[in-house]
Order: sequence, then structure tokens, then C-alpha cells
Amino acid sequence: MFSKRVLNFEESPIRKLVPYAEAAKKRGIKIYHLNIGQPDLKTPEVFFESIRKRTPDVVYYSHSAGIPELREAFASYYQRRQNAHVKPENVLITNGGSEAILFSFTVVADPGDEILVLEPFYANYKAFAKIAGVKLVPVVRQMEDDFSIPDNLDRFVNDRTRAIVLSNPCNPTGVVYGERDLRYLLDFVERNDLFMIVDEVYSEIVFRGNFVSAMTFESDRVIVVDSVSKKFSACGARVGCLITKNEQVLNHAMKLAQGRLAPPLLEQIGSVALLNLDEDFFRTVRETYRERVEIVIKKLEEYGLKRFTRPSGAFYVTVELPVNDSEEFARWMLTDFDLDGETTMVAPLKGFYITPERGKREIRIACVLDKEVLSRAMDVLMEGLRTWLKKFSSVQQYLS
Ligand SMILES: *Cc1c(COP(=O)(O)O)cnc(C)c1O
Repeated sequence: MFSKRVLNFEESPIRKLVPYAEAAKKRGIKIYHLNIGQPDLKTPEVFFESIRKRTPDVVYYSHSAGIPELREAFASYYQRRQNAHVKPENVLITNGGSEAILFSFTVVADPGDEILVLEPFYANYKAFAKIAGVKLVPVVRQMEDDFSIPDNLDRFVNDRTRAIVLSNPCNPTGVVYGERDLRYLLDFVERNDLFMIVDEVYSEIVFRGNFVSAMTFESDRVIVVDSVSKKFSACGARVGCLITKNEQVLNHAMKLAQGRLAPPLLEQIGSVALLNLDEDFFRTVRETYRERVEIVIKKLEEYGLKRFTRPSGAFYVTVELPVNDSEEFARWMLTDFDLDGETTMVAPLKGFYITPERGKREIRIACVLDKEVLSRAMDVLMEGLRTWLKKFSSVQQYLS
């Protein structure tokens, strides 16, 4: 009665915990949400001003590729802030970065084809791959070697391989791939006649080293995904883009874009103003997340945890807990634990992997609360862990 496609869809491991969170709230427990990847910072006022000033009489369908002003704004943003020669014609405005990823998969791969993905990865890639009928092939990376890209990628390639996809900066690991890594990947895709799809939605949120956009390469093998969601705290705007210097990719993606008519009009008008924001704005955003990440790391160290990432970008910290099943622990935090009526919700990392058994002990902490609140949320989480270990485990010595 229902398609295999939907029946095969995986329930998001974060979503799975929601009923438990709701039940806890009903019992009067306050929950700190470190599980969601949605920024809490205020959407810049210019977004709303831009819409107010330019409210049209009719909310019309924009051009399927987006309003010209926004394509120009993205192009000039790439020139100005990413040092990349991008023309408005290289930019296709999409319904968030999500649609740009779906379009990319659909343009480069047929059902049954394979796309390599650096693992762990943004869990929703699984959903886009399922919709496009594409098989994601995980390239496993290890926390021990800083999630670096394995040297011998060629062994993952067969005659159905079409592309490799990664996020840079990476959700959930916080790794930022530099120029050398990107050149290595570019060489790999060119040698094997593939595409590289680089999801740069966190590109302004980089604390260490220089961020290099894949658009700085003059290559028709590169597709970049961008979005206003994370860097401008405007997730609900649903405005993103697909950028490439490959005219054919754009022409084919345009067919998909025409099929869904247009991205949202008012939010495109607002986004033009966002893209024109200057370094002052980005500095504040970057510093805010950097301070928060430091707080989380300090708390993890204070409690004696040893295996976690020190992100160079994005706003997540991945932690390996001394538990057998981080999903069970995350659920228990909602069903059985509270510290003075409060508990903390985190994202189990299992859903960010395809390889079975991977991520079973890991969680992702999203730094999307203000400093003091975040600090308290971490104390509650660590107290929960201490209690859990006393109850269920013999590895208390892991914690001081
Ligand atoms: C949040 C996120 C997206 C989705 O972005 P939208 O523009 O809101 O669709 C894409 N990629 C990564 C890595 C993300 O974390």
C-alpha cells in the first residue's frame, strides 16, 4: 500500500526522543535543549526591514532561479567574503540548503547510483538520498585522527559512483577542511570523473584557521551548497542556493527548480539584506559560538571526559561517553533523571552514521544557548552522566 521508499525511511534518532521530552515537560521538568541544530541568535533586523521596505503588492512567483537581486547578492558575497569569482548566473536560489542538496544528488546520480559521504555526516543527507534513490556510501573517519580524510579514497569508487558529499565546516564534527584537503578531493573527483558537493552552510562560523570555499577553485566538478539558515540565524526563511561553474549542472538543476516553481518571495527579499552584512556582524556571531564551544569543552574537561572534538567551526561538540548506548542514556536523561527539576536533552550520534555500530557511544552537543544557561545545561548533563555511571556501570573511575 505504501512505497518502499517511505517504508525504508529511517526515523530521525533525535525525533525519536521527542515524545519522552514532551512527557518530561508534562511532569513539570525543565529541559535544556542541546539537541537541536537551530541557532538561537536573533535574526538581524535588516532582514525584516528589507521585507517591510520592499513589500510587493502581490506575493508573486519569483523567477525559478530566484530574484535577480538575491543571485547578485550571493555572487557579490562570494567575491567579497570568500575570495571566489562567482557570477549571478552561477547561483540558483533554493528552498534552503536542503533543496540544493536534493537537487545536486538528483542532477548527478540516477536511482541506484552511489554518492560517497564523509562519515559522520549531517543526518538529513540520508533523507535526500532516499528521495533521489541514491545509495550513500560512507567513508568512515575516526575521532582519533581528527576525522581526517582517508588517503585512499579510490578504493570506494566503482562504476556507479557519481560524487562525494561533505559539509565544511562539518556538522557534527566541527572539522574545517583546509585548502590541502579540498585540493586532494578535487584531484580525486577529477581523476575519477565525479562531482564534489560541498555543503558550506557554516562557512562564517570558523574559529581556527582560514576557511576556504570550494568555489575558489575554477572547476566544473564543484557544486557548493549554501544557506542563510545557520550563519544568519534564519532557518525558517528557507532560503539557500546551489552554486556551480558547471553550466550543464545549472541547466539541469533549473529543470528541477522550474518543477517546483519558486523559492519563497518575501524571504528572498529579506535575505538580500543579510548577504550585505559586514565583518562586524560575522565577528559577533563567530565570537559568540566560539565562547560557547569553549564553555562546553571546559565543562567536559572539568568532569574528566577525554574523548570529544575541539571544533574549528560550526557550533557542535561531538563527545564519546563512557556508556554502551548513548541513545539509551539520552532517553534516560528524559525519563528518569532530573537535577532540581531540570534535565538536558542531547542528540545521540547514531543517526549521523550509516555504518552499523558506529556512533553508539557518541552524542552531539549543540551550542545554541546563552553562556550562563549553557553552563548550567552542561552541569545538569554531567551530573546525569555521573548518576548513570554509578547506577549502571563499572567505569566510575572514568570520571574523577
Ligand atoms: C542545517 C543544515 C542544512 C540545512 O540547511 P537549510 O538551509 O535550513 O535547509 C544543511 N546542511 C547542514 C550541514 C546543516 O547543518
